[in-house]
Amino acid sequence: MSEIINIAIDGPAGAGKSTVSRRAAAHFGFIYVDTGALYRAVGLNALRLGLDTSDPIAVGGTLGSVKVSLRFIDGEQRIFLFDEDVSEAIRTPEASMAASNVSAIPSVREFLFDLQRDIAAENNCVMDGRDIGTVVLPNAKVKLFLTASPEKRAERRCAELTAKGIGEKYENVLADIIQRDYNDSHREIAPLKQADDAVLIDTTEMTLEQSVEAVISAIKERI
Ligand code: C5P
Repeated sequence: MSEIINIAIDGPAGAGKSTVSRRAAAHFGFIYVDTGALYRAVGLNALRLGLDTSDPIAVGGTLGSVKVSLRFIDGEQRIFLFDEDVSEAIRTPEASMAASNVSAIPSVREFLFDLQRDIAAENNCVMDGRDIGTVVLPNAKVKLFLTASPEKRAERRCAELTAKGIGEKYENVLADIIQRDYNDSHREIAPLKQADDAVLIDTTEMTLEQSVEAVISAIKERI
């Protein structure tokens, strides 16, 4: 069998990781693995059980019975909680907050670690997250760290919300991004951090198309 190729893409919320990673994966014929969805599914399960999603004991207690799985249909990831496809249900603001809370719990990270490793061991993939290059796939063939200024990320997020008909003040979106950056990079376990051997791609001055091009050419140079 030919060598399995893993591409790790990390970076803060709103840097365009998921869109760029999906497009890059399609370009190379790899699967795209959005690891944030796993944290969101664990968070959604805890929410539905009426638990405090930041309580390590309560959330840890769900891990013995919860079933989270990823299935790839035509290369597109769908996420299942037990037998239910929750790919849309995990995208609410409540689920985002729950994901952020459970992602700081060590037993949750441990629980999801093998699942991520197993997928990467068997598939050529582009995997995106916060700790893929540093913790989950330290031997990934290519590691990229995608970022942009907080102001630019807030601007893009506002445009997305407006397109969905949701009005949200730029100042609120920016404050939320700054808070999430802080939480992600200051948590004790697997904080968001650029791996020493990751290539930094700053998309502040790039359009989406230029970001996709930059990521694809950075990968091409290395595989
Ligand atoms: O990327 P996304 O916004 O879907 O991630 C949801 C939550 O899961 C975030 O709060 C992030 O901190 C966390 N996460 C993580 N490690 C990953 C992917 C996401 O802690 N590899």
